[in-house]
Amino acid sequence: MARIGIVACSNATREFGCPMVVCLADLRGRKGAFSSYPKDEKLDLAGIINCPGCPTLTGPDKLLGRIKGLTEINVDVIHMSFCMKALCPFTRKYMEALNEAFPAVRVVLGTHEEHQTPEEYRQRIKKLFNQDKMNMVDVILSRNGG
Ligand code: SF4
Repeated sequence: MARIGIVACSNATREFGCPMVVCLADLRGRKGAFSSYPKDEKLDLAGIINCPGCPTLTGPDKLLGRIKGLTEINVDVIHMSFCMKALCPFTRKYMEALNEAFPAVRVVLGTHEEHQTPEEYRQRIKKLFNQDKMNMVDVILSRNGG
């Protein structure tokens, strides 16, 4: 049995509310990055965490601290989600740091099947970031209809 942990980009999950439904469906259906496991090996989703956000100049230390949420529950494999692969400029550095800090844990790039290229995905996410959202200044200046 493979005990699997997934790390997702907080921009996708916390900012835009992704419930990771496609990652989880493909884990159950053994598609995408989950197709590489032997057919007779049971896959057990042990846990999911968000990236803690911008690593600052300290590099991957912030993620290494948070990843204990997975390593201390004895995962065998950590999958870096498709959103991390497509959106995060630090993913490669994170993977190197995880490999070094937790050599017994296999680190895999990707989760669900890629129905669009990372570049296409980035363009779609860019549109979400560029939505004209109201903020607290709109409340202070009574622009929100209140
Ligand atoms: S560091 Fe990478 S994974 Fe974490 S929130 Fe930023 S872009 Fe997403």
